[in-house]
Amino acid sequence: MQKGKINVQTENIFPIIKKFLYSDHEIFLRELISNAVDATQKLRTMSSKGEFRGEMGDLHIEVKVDKNAKTITVSDRGIGMTPEEVDRYINQIAFSSAEEWISKYKSESETNPIIGHFGLGFYSSFMVASRVELHTRSYKKNSKGVLWSCEGTPEFSLEDKPKKARGTDVVLHIADDSLEFLEEPKILELLKKYCKFLPVEIVFGTEKQTRKEKDEKGEEKEVTVENPRVINNTTPAWTRKPNELKEEDYRDFYRELYPMSFEDPLFNIHLNVDYPFNLTGILYFPKVKQNFEVQRDKIQLYCNQVFVTDSVEGIVPDFLTLLHGVIDSPDIPLNVSRSFLQSDSSVKKISSHITKKVAGKLEEIFKSSREDFEKKWDDIKIFIEYGMISDDKFRERARKFCLLKNAEGKYFTLDEYREHIKTQQTDKDKKVVHIYSTNPEEQHSAIEAASEKGYDVLILDTPIDSHFVNMLETELENVSFIRVDAEVAERLIKKEDEMPSKLSQEQKDELKPIIEKHLDKQKFQVAFENLSETDQPMVITQPEFMRRMKDMSALGGMNYMGSLPDSYTLVVNSNHPLIGKLLEEKDGELRDKQINQLIDLSLLAKNLLKGEKLTRFVRRSVDLF
Ligand code: ADP
Repeated sequence: MQKGKINVQTENIFPIIKKFLYSDHEIFLRELISNAVDATQKLRTMSSKGEFRGEMGDLHIEVKVDKNAKTITVSDRGIGMTPEEVDRYINQIAFSSAEEWISKYKSESETNPIIGHFGLGFYSSFMVASRVELHTRSYKKNSKGVLWSCEGTPEFSLEDKPKKARGTDVVLHIADDSLEFLEEPKILELLKKYCKFLPVEIVFGTEKQTRKEKDEKGEEKEVTVENPRVINNTTPAWTRKPNELKEEDYRDFYRELYPMSFEDPLFNIHLNVDYPFNLTGILYFPKVKQNFEVQRDKIQLYCNQVFVTDSVEGIVPDFLTLLHGVIDSPDIPLNVSRSFLQSDSSVKKISSHITKKVAGKLEEIFKSSREDFEKKWDDIKIFIEYGMISDDKFRERARKFCLLKNAEGKYFTLDEYREHIKTQQTDKDKKVVHIYSTNPEEQHSAIEAASEKGYDVLILDTPIDSHFVNMLETELENVSFIRVDAEVAERLIKKEDEMPSKLSQEQKDELKPIIEKHLDKQKFQVAFENLSETDQPMVITQPEFMRRMKDMSALGGMNYMGSLPDSYTLVVNSNHPLIGKLLEEKDGELRDKQINQLIDLSLLAKNLLKGEKLTRFVRRSVDLF
């Protein structure tokens, strides 16, 4: 037997491995299985090149837990190692890569967690094991078995030990503080998390399966057999060619990824790039729930089919983190921190490429089947609007297929809509005014009034629409947006010719305080407008600027705005006959009643009359007969 000392450069790394990765001990299994997969794939490659001519046999990788012996064993039938290779790869290479990894980890991890804790490799087994044995036999002719053993100190031993099968068994003697890893359900959970799509079959324990069989008499019977339990699907949809897959395959794969999801995705985008970097994957547009509760962290990142993380922030553009699916790339550096990743040029390229592909696919669907696209629009608009707000490149591309829906349920592109409204809705400053409603139910009377004037009203009713409107106003030329109740219908689009007023300035000054005393001054302002006689005598509007700022801040950003009260304007129509009559009314008590009645009617039309005020209004209305 040979005894030796691993060449320790700075300090003993084993306690550090344990200490620094306390919460991530579980990755040891991923690392060991990745090595087993690599060794198996190398053998396959050599066989296909004719460098290995022996029998390959069954190449599955087996994971075994022995609770009594307190061991976990990972066995492969890959290329194995000769004693010289064990010395080189395990004592030298594996050790120095672990050491390098730790120095990186120590400097990066405090403020910035490392993405996938990738690259620690073989030595991560010492996070959970007090002793590790590696029993291996190389594929090379006349190789004998060799056993390497180490107790988590820099000392190791290496001895000849016959081994029947080619390949490697790694046996972890689990440490007393890590006994949870001897529970079968725990290992199963980890295998399902990290190994679900590995390219080599992973077998763990057995499972009961029933199948139909014919007995001696030729009668069909159900028989139950114990079969090895295969954890993974070795050829997940994203590794296959798009032209081999049908819509149904994409849907099935979605269910495989999210077994708990009841809804089918709206559509998918198959990513398949091999130049200038390698990237495959499938992204799905999920159907969002009515309350627009979108979930992030539903995209899984893989590296050569090994699960890395489901937090892809910094790797894909922010707005795409709202999508579902899988991205697989060996070209994303995973042993670095997120902040490093964000500034990494290859990651930037990958990120902008994904954006391009997603926009391209959306444009393709829009062009080839507009009807279908319109049907899905209400569900996908949140992604597209958010993308346009947060990503300049996407905004440029999305202008072609971004749709606006009006109150009649018709859809227009941005350019089409401008054409549609420009004759009726261009104001005196040559701006094309887009009128919109954030809640068609609550703003019903304002929509009616605008329609009567011949104006078109858009429906922009999601929480991010206030930001979206703001973005469009800067993006589109000579365009402004106004909510349908921000002005009385007459004044939504400011034209040159103002109507004359039937009230003089003195009369207005006299009437103003009489009305004001019935209003909460914090919330309401009184303004006279010269509208037509047939318009309502009093209308409540909510000025665009303050309201939009408030809506925007409610979604995040400018927090101080959120605490401001809503501010409204009570517009008094100086040309309405009832307003003139108020001035003539000598009975002060009756006049107050009439004013209150008119104010309440305008509040009612805006769905603002509630509680005690509503009760009093109902009583007063009956009294007026
Ligand atoms: P990495 O896999 O990142 O190279 P590791 O520390 O995990 O780092 O492993 C070091 C080396 O040891 C591998 O590159 C490989 O050559 C060898 N090795 C580890 N596990 C196996 C195995 N199961 N079969 C064959 N070789 C292995």
